[in-house]
Amino acid sequence: MSEVHKFLFDGLPVRGMLVRLTDDWTGLLARREGERAHPAPVRALLGEMAAAGVLMQASIKFKGALLLQLHGDGPVRLAVAEVRSDLGFRATASVTGELPPDAGLAAMVNAGGGGRCSITLDPEDKLPGQQPYQGVVPLHGDRREPLGRLSQVLEHYMLQSEQLDTRLVLAADDRVAAGLLIQRLPVDGEGNLGARNEDEIGLNEGYNRIAHLASTLKAEELLGLDADTILRRLFWEESVRRFEPLAGADGPRFSCTCSRQRVIRMLQGLGREEFDGLIAERGLAEVGCEFCGAQYRFDAVDGGEVFTAARDQPPTSRAVQ
Ligand SMILES: [Zn+2]
Repeated sequence: MSEVHKFLFDGLPVRGMLVRLTDDWTGLLARREGERAHPAPVRALLGEMAAAGVLMQASIKFKGALLLQLHGDGPVRLAVAEVRSDLGFRATASVTGELPPDAGLAAMVNAGGGGRCSITLDPEDKLPGQQPYQGVVPLHGDRREPLGRLSQVLEHYMLQSEQLDTRLVLAADDRVAAGLLIQRLPVDGEGNLGARNEDEIGLNEGYNRIAHLASTLKAEELLGLDADTILRRLFWEESVRRFEPLAGADGPRFSCTCSRQRVIRMLQGLGREEFDGLIAERGLAEVGCEFCGAQYRFDAVDGGEVFTAARDQPPTSRAVQ
């Protein structure tokens, strides 16, 4: 079962989280089998993105969708993982070129050095005119050194945009997508209301020790061992306070938010002329969901309903959509 484990280190300003996506991860991959399957390195990248997205969403508890996206200038144009507040997640990628079986992050999304990683927080209950919050980082470090792993990109992001020391270990194969996050708590003690100890960036001894231990975790251990074994092996000399794992109904799981209604809004945005063109050409307008593979079909009769409904709506609501 897919699960999230949260833990703290007694007496240290450090928190940790471990995620393992198992049946939900294989279920996501099963929706794209055979010819439609993404190449192996892209599947591994999406697994790491899904695990990282769950870790970030579970640590900020944002009421809305967290979107982790890689905008590439290589064979992978876009890779997306979305995690909502209930930890429902989905992920997909758009791949245009051939990939060597051992392609790394740079070969996939940063071939020309122009790749970017963005993190978008899209609130559930948006106020009128409210835009989603978005932070963007390049796929290289402060000295323009290329970053070879997604975990490094995200560590860089957390430091730049959140002033948070973070250590991430991510790994994914076709059975498991998993991640370990260690983070220095941004706030000092209870009496110190909300004061961020930013001057401690990189300097807290407790955090540095725990982060170093975390970085010794190998991908095969993260993928092959259960959470209890991993935490015991890494932190056996530390005093770790564990919390009830989030699993089952409270845990991370694959789910897609696509619906016929959303596709109808998309078709309305496209316009009647475009829709009629599709019908004239193929007799059918078909829209597939890139995330879950669901197919939505509309014929000429449906078209009448789609566009009558659009006309009945006040013009302002159409403009917003
Ligand atoms: Zn879908």
